[in-house]
Amino acid sequence: MTTAELTTTLHEEVRALAAQRGAVILAHNYQVPEVQDVADFVGDSLGLSRQAAATGADAIVFCGVHFMAETAKILSPEKTVLLPDLDAGCSLAASITADQLRQWKAENPGAVVVSYVNTTAEVKAESDYCCTSGNAKAVIDAIPRDQAILFLPDMYLGLWLEKVTGRKLNIWLGECHVHAGIKPADIERWQAEAPDAELLVHPECGCASQAMAFGNDRTHILSTEGMINFAKASSKPRMLVATEIGIIHRLEKEAPGKRFEPVNRNAFCKYMKMITLEKVRNSLRDWKFEVEVDPEIAARARGAIDRMVALG
Ligand code: SF4
Repeated sequence: MTTAELTTTLHEEVRALAAQRGAVILAHNYQVPEVQDVADFVGDSLGLSRQAAATGADAIVFCGVHFMAETAKILSPEKTVLLPDLDAGCSLAASITADQLRQWKAENPGAVVVSYVNTTAEVKAESDYCCTSGNAKAVIDAIPRDQAILFLPDMYLGLWLEKVTGRKLNIWLGECHVHAGIKPADIERWQAEAPDAELLVHPECGCASQAMAFGNDRTHILSTEGMINFAKASSKPRMLVATEIGIIHRLEKEAPGKRFEPVNRNAFCKYMKMITLEKVRNSLRDWKFEVEVDPEIAARARGAIDRMVALG
């Protein structure tokens, strides 16, 4: 059997099992193309959180990383949430523990805690608000201007938020190794080599602050969902993309006929790529691996997540 035939067979098997088991398949924008193609919904963290909250299915197969499956479980405690590989973690979520956050809060009494969604359920339980890159600005804007804010865990997103909201934040010095690896030099090189292209930059990137400093009208700081919307609406034929390379597949599907190129071909998240079509099939067939969240932690995390889902 060729690779293409094997992919088709697995795809059909997954769809049949999902129908039989009453499961919905959610896939993040950074998943491998064949996993995106088998999913019912593909999106960013916020979009998938909304799908998880709204689905009428009995089970969710979450093709993403662990904290995302935890978020889905918190939003839908009565549903079974399956993660096809339990080792699919996130270096950014691992950059702060609940103990570290409790300590930081004790040092800053009265401050409001805003956590990027890339955090463990325990950290969310210690937070007032969750946000994604898609609604982070709206979340900060919703907090009174004289209120001190602790923002965690991504420092690049925090620095970008300081610029777009004009507010001073206390920022945790965490980073995603994939996005931090996209350097200002990558942007400079592409600015010189592709003067006709629009540049789409994720605010988690190490280059985001610098990209904003260019301040030209073809540089756009966008969440992954924002990139999709921009590409669909734009009349420009060529775009450079500064985020994890998995997004290119979705951009090509949703904005056909345009040319998308990564500014750094090594922007590759090994955790996202742990989910394969075969593991999705195994997950549905063998009903594994169930993600559970302690009910007491889930109840506390839920308030922060609900505020995130509401503030689109
Ligand atoms: S790309 Fe970065 S933030 Fe996203 S899952 Fe991978 S390690 Fe985490």
